[in-house]
Amino acid sequence: MNVLIVFAHPEPRSLNGALRDVAVAELKAQGHEVRISDLYVMGWKSAADRADFPLLAPDAPLNVAAASGEAFKNGTLTQDVRAEQDKLLWADAVILQFPLWWFTMPAILKGWVDRVYSYGFTYGVGEHSDKRWGNRYGEGVFAGKRAMLVVTTGGWAEHYSDRGINGPIDDVLFPINHGVLFYPGFDVLPAFVAHRASRIDAAGFADLAERLRARMRTLFTDQPIAYRRQNHGDYLIPSMQLRPGLGDSDAHGFALHIAR
Ligand code: FAD
Repeated sequence: MNVLIVFAHPEPRSLNGALRDVAVAELKAQGHEVRISDLYVMGWKSAADRADFPLLAPDAPLNVAAASGEAFKNGTLTQDVRAEQDKLLWADAVILQFPLWWFTMPAILKGWVDRVYSYGFTYGVGEHSDKRWGNRYGEGVFAGKRAMLVVTTGGWAEHYSDRGINGPIDDVLFPINHGVLFYPGFDVLPAFVAHRASRIDAAGFADLAERLRARMRTLFTDQPIAYRRQNHGDYLIPSMQLRPGLGDSDAHGFALHIAR
């Protein structure tokens, strides 16, 4: 199978760099083909701006969604963006790997999402009617593909537990897992998270590496997170509210959108 790793750490000799090498070696040992988008090495341009749309008339106001939709349709997206879209289409599984920075992905990776996820490619697709609300949340260009996050945090596991001050890690990662990955159709696997990463010693690294190897071995067999699919009856259209009666009576927030 084909695996794309989108890697966002500025230092190859970092813990993240070492974990990436562990993942790549294990995936190759399993017979998979691996490609890496190493965003800092590539000098990835993170800001979505006018330079992304060279054919836009100089006096036309920039509407990023409209311009990206036009450029996607006409095949005039910049070469760097097209290359990443091709890699995504090639991949059977996509791994986003990054250190948690201010409770989300580093800006360079967010900029990869902003620029690569063009209108007409990952959003703004499909029928909008009283039965369907576009191809999203379980449908879309990446349907049938798998995705997962590999994340390191400075904070302890307890800090990210149900009663931890940072909020549960699954909640912290929900906008990426559900918004960035599930929205355009990926089956999203539970994240691989290495907590308290700044304090890892040789023994800790060995444990972590073994845990990551195990996850790489089950990349194509692990059960995805059971996010509710949008167009299959769980939501009212067009209000997009979860239907009354669904979800535990005491569930609220992000948890409502996972079928138990
Ligand atoms: P590194 O600093 O490269 O390494 C960490 C440890 O692993 C070191 O002790 C190193 O010796 C060891 N190590 C590295 N490679 C190996 C190896 N091959 N073998 C054995 N040991 C090894 N944390 C949060 O929890 N929440 C936040 O919101 C958050 N925001 C941040 C914002 C910024 C801007 C920054 C810079 C940090 C933030 N952090 C936050 C902390 C951050 O998540 C961690 O610093 C990061 O996850 C550590 O990963 P790293 O790859 O950079 O580790």
